[in-house]
Amino acid sequence: MNEYDTERMLNVLAEQNYSKTEDPEEADLIVINTCSVREKSEQKFFSLLGRLQNLRKKGRVLLAVGGCVAQQEGEKILDRAPYVDLVFGTSAIDRLPGMIDRVMASGKSQVDIDLTGEEAEPGYHPLAARSSACTAFVTVMRGCNNFCSYCVVPYVRGRERSRSQEAVVREVQSLADRGVKEVTLLGQNVNSYGCAGEEPNGLFPQLLRAVDRVEGIQRIRFTTSHPKDLSGSLISCFREVEKLCPHIHLPLQSGSNGVLARMNRCYTIEEYQAKVERLRALCPDIALTTDLIVGFPGETEEDFQQTLDVVRRIEYDEFFSFKYSDRPNTRASEMDQKVEEEEKSRRLSILQNMQKTITLRRNRALVGKACEILVEGGSKRNCVQQMGRTGTNKIINFEGPSHLHGEMVMVEIVSAHPHSLQGRLV
Ligand code: SAH
Ligand code: SF4
Repeated sequence: MNEYDTERMLNVLAEQNYSKTEDPEEADLIVINTCSVREKSEQKFFSLLGRLQNLRKKGRVLLAVGGCVAQQEGEKILDRAPYVDLVFGTSAIDRLPGMIDRVMASGKSQVDIDLTGEEAEPGYHPLAARSSACTAFVTVMRGCNNFCSYCVVPYVRGRERSRSQEAVVREVQSLADRGVKEVTLLGQNVNSYGCAGEEPNGLFPQLLRAVDRVEGIQRIRFTTSHPKDLSGSLISCFREVEKLCPHIHLPLQSGSNGVLARMNRCYTIEEYQAKVERLRALCPDIALTTDLIVGFPGETEEDFQQTLDVVRRIEYDEFFSFKYSDRPNTRASEMDQKVEEEEKSRRLSILQNMQKTITLRRNRALVGKACEILVEGGSKRNCVQQMGRTGTNKIINFEGPSHLHGEMVMVEIVSAHPHSLQGRLV
């Protein structure tokens, strides 16, 4: 979500004749796009701000802070760092140019954290002409109504609002016309697209089918899905929607029903597992990834063991795992029985070690198989290598010419590593 917002900021600023530089010394404007979902990223932001202070003070550069921390803290950022010129919230990206003009004209810092005053069509951003990527994100809904007890998102991104199907399809078509082959439909809870929590999920499957009909698009992905909203008709899409990739990110958070209830997740582990079984029955090759939190307030050793049991049983392809941290305004931040930091670290490392073995075993099972991949660009590690992804979202590096970028090619998997696979063109 933040990556996508950064792209939107770049586009809005490109229209004002700004271009990107990696060198802060050279910049006229420095924008820090912040995340407040976990405490660690928020701390990183404040230390970065401290480091930029001297640069701001000695030069003519403007310093802008956007994203969730800006939304959450507003004016308070100026109390702490008066040298900041602009504080703009998660719905104010399109208003950035006006704010810059006002700073320049008045010499005074500007704050805009209005969540209601969003652009007419949330999320729409024509891709800048410079972009040559074959994959793109498309926001279909913003905000969240779920109020999981640990999560700050509903407070910093506001309530759910969805774009029209027509607008999404139009954007996907324009991306396809520019050579994009793969789109990822994006939202905090994409499967409540169009429902705002009132109706069951007819609308997201319908949107998937509409995007499936867009000519030129070869792959569709979506993220993130809330398990409680994963309907039978959405599960069926994995068999029926031709371009939908066989991968779902389905955040579990905990393997203990007691913890899930206190997290306000609105599903039990049994319900979650039943959905996983249906997914695997309909689409046997589907890759499954998840998010897990360790050390939620009151999480006992037994609760934690239950999480390990589920991870062992389900055998995810990969997961993101986090130590619980208190976030402002959330119900969990007021709960008793906080777990010690050291204990959280211990649990996290046990969990991650267990998954490392599972991921490697699942990756090794692919050696010798042929897979179709979309070639996204040069490999990060090695310049003669190209990098692509399978439909199941696994990274494959292989030796090949760079003119394959943006093409679908077949590779044979020759070896497996914990985070990637090595392939050979066939
Ligand atoms: N809307 C998505 C993602 C939300 S944030 C969803 O519902 O899955 C991404 C992940 O950050 C969450 O899935 C959760 O695992 C983690 N997270 C959120 N708040 C957290 C907190 N206070 N402490 C630790 N991890 C947290
Ligand atoms: Fe946060 Fe829960 Fe909403 Fe995800 S579903 S954004 S975890 S409140």
